[in-house]
Amino acid sequence: MKKDDCRINGYTRTCGLIGNPVEHTLSPLIHNTLAGQMKENLVYVPLHVQAGNVKEAVEGAWALNLLGINVTVPYKSEVIPYLKEIDPLAAGIGAVNTLVRSGSGFKGYNTDMPGLLRAMTYDGVRIAGENFIILGAGGAARAVAVLLASQKAAQIYLLNRTPEKAQAVAEEVNKITGRRIVEGMMLTEYDRLPGRTKYTAIQASSVGMFPDVDTVILEDPAFYRMLHTGYDLIFNPGITKFMRLTMEQGGNAFNGVRMLLYQGVIAYELWTGTEVPEALSLKIYEELKEAMGI
Ligand code: NAP
Repeated sequence: MKKDDCRINGYTRTCGLIGNPVEHTLSPLIHNTLAGQMKENLVYVPLHVQAGNVKEAVEGAWALNLLGINVTVPYKSEVIPYLKEIDPLAAGIGAVNTLVRSGSGFKGYNTDMPGLLRAMTYDGVRIAGENFIILGAGGAARAVAVLLASQKAAQIYLLNRTPEKAQAVAEEVNKITGRRIVEGMMLTEYDRLPGRTKYTAIQASSVGMFPDVDTVILEDPAFYRMLHTGYDLIFNPGITKFMRLTMEQGGNAFNGVRMLLYQGVIAYELWTGTEVPEALSLKIYEELKEAMGI
């Protein structure tokens, strides 16, 4: 890569985001700002891939010598059969959001969870030895459970509207980690949780996301009194109703902007083999908030 000339020219490398839809993405802001500031001759573009075209998209990206690919909904699992290699963490989570060129094909990584880990570390939220509640049982909730288990959380209660899904995710994660660390329960069963301890709750459902900003997965103040920390994966709005209810009961609350930021930073580091200075990450964090109007 020609480092000293950031205009698009014959040396420019291309990265992109495949998903459906991709029009709402903030990833071009993250990666094009990083490339400009790090003086890498690299551009990042959204690549809208229609259903049924994922194989062709991955093979085409390889053939076109794209440096790296991000993958977003709904293709994070669908992309896996078309990879040459998969990182063990991504394999455990069952979702890939970053493809890196390797040998004769792409290697798949999951940077969402390392991104969340870096964000929680930045925010001072401890994992080892702590007790957690995860709200939701979709792809994000499952990945959070794998991350918390791998970081030696004490106990994880996974609460979901459809309890069968919560139990299925708990079983899977317990199998992967070899510990009976996750218990799946119905969303409203939080009054069954041991009361001698306070919890960090990770809000991993889509309830409360813009434009439905007045909705929340649980309303009961008694639930929020059980928490010392509420961590919402949603990044828009900046303060979700879940965060507000947590703070009203004296807890600390965080949104998903830093997770979004760091999943991008880690992908960029994988593609370019560089280390992004923390000061630059913080500058991009401010730009993300400005772009979202939060
Ligand atoms: P998903 O697969 O669609 O999961 C949705 C979950 O939310 C399901 O467990 C569902 O329960 C529950 N749910 C939906 N509507 C509900 C309602 N009205 N009441 C109760 N529960 C409800 O979504 P996902 O891909 O896991 O993503 C979840 C969230 O994480 C999204 O908001 C996404 O934006 C966020 N996220 C953020 C980042 C970041 O970088 N910050 C990265 C990834 C994801 P049922 O099982 O009962 O249907």
